[in-house]
Amino acid sequence: MRFDTKTVHAGQAPDPSTGATVVPVTLSVVYTYDEVGVNKGFDYGRHCNPTRGAFERCLAALENGSHCLTFASGMASADAALRLLRPGDHLLLTEDIYGGTWRLVEDILKPAGLEATFAPLSTAAQARSAIRPNTKMVWMESPTNPLLRLADIREVAAVAAQNGALTVVDNTFATPFGQNPLDLGADIVMHSTTKYIGGHSDVLGGALVTNNHEIAQRLAAISRISGAVPSPFDSYLNLRGVKTLSLRMTRHAENAIRIARFLEDHPKVIAVYYPGLESHPNHALACTQMRSFGGMLAFELKGGEEAALAMLNGVRLFTLTGSLGGVESIISYPKEMSHVALSSADRLRLGVTDGVVRLSVGIEDPEDLIEDLSQALARV
Ligand code: PLP
Repeated sequence: MRFDTKTVHAGQAPDPSTGATVVPVTLSVVYTYDEVGVNKGFDYGRHCNPTRGAFERCLAALENGSHCLTFASGMASADAALRLLRPGDHLLLTEDIYGGTWRLVEDILKPAGLEATFAPLSTAAQARSAIRPNTKMVWMESPTNPLLRLADIREVAAVAAQNGALTVVDNTFATPFGQNPLDLGADIVMHSTTKYIGGHSDVLGGALVTNNHEIAQRLAAISRISGAVPSPFDSYLNLRGVKTLSLRMTRHAENAIRIARFLEDHPKVIAVYYPGLESHPNHALACTQMRSFGGMLAFELKGGEEAALAMLNGVRLFTLTGSLGGVESIISYPKEMSHVALSSADRLRLGVTDGVVRLSVGIEDPEDLIEDLSQALARV
């Protein structure tokens, strides 16, 4: 099956007991045994659920993986993956990682004995210089938030493998429509399905996909024991959302490149960050590593914070909020939202200046979006 067909059919055979074409929401937490030790493959809702299982099979197929485990949120999936590590192990992460992952490492894992460093991880050379003998996991985001920097996943994963470390890629921004990190050498792909996979800003979720049976067994044990599983209805909504992933991502990317070009030509904009633009420093890598450049972009306004606030408060159609990946266009201010936990020195070192604004470009008519940005820019 090709990608678009998988979104609609993978893991979603008609229900064997009723023929229901759409995977039913199975709410039952308990499953009746035929006799002691004999059941139909389901025993208890924390361990497994048919609706959840269908979503997991679909997502595994979309990421070219053999196993998928889903979680109650993206952060719950990150937490489960990081529980593969032990105190004294070293974790190496992309420096401009999602703020929640940063907080999980700083506030929970480091105090529990994990060693962790954040470093630029775009190239093999950068990975080589940051890796340590006790590095057991390399955690990447590509593209990153909010400046859409890319990591050469193949090269960095190769460095990790030479060191005996696992590679995890948070593929939330690109989605499996845009890139498949397992094909590039990653061991685990992580998703906040809350974003593009669910696609409608109405359900939380997280996922881990792998091709490695042993890793899958360890993650399944972590999930069964710690129990941060998604509800059946959340699984249903995520599965419903993923069916239109290709259609949505195609439109997100078409709209994003139009907006990126509009902003690039605008006199009040200093820089536009979108991997699909020829001016993006990682454009060549994006062309080899990604099938689609996605719907996220950022830009920097000439007038710094004052200009950014005027723009953010001036939009009418874009929603001012912090999330991303829904059908509606969203505008956000990294300084006060995704990067608020960072010191201003750290934020500025990453290039997230006071004038940086982030867009999650939705699937509306691009002319309406450009008109809205245009009128908001006129207030700057
Ligand atoms: N990873 C990335 C790249 C994200 O943007 C987010 C949320 O914004 C997460 C992980 C966490 O996901 P969730 O909010 O579903 O826990």
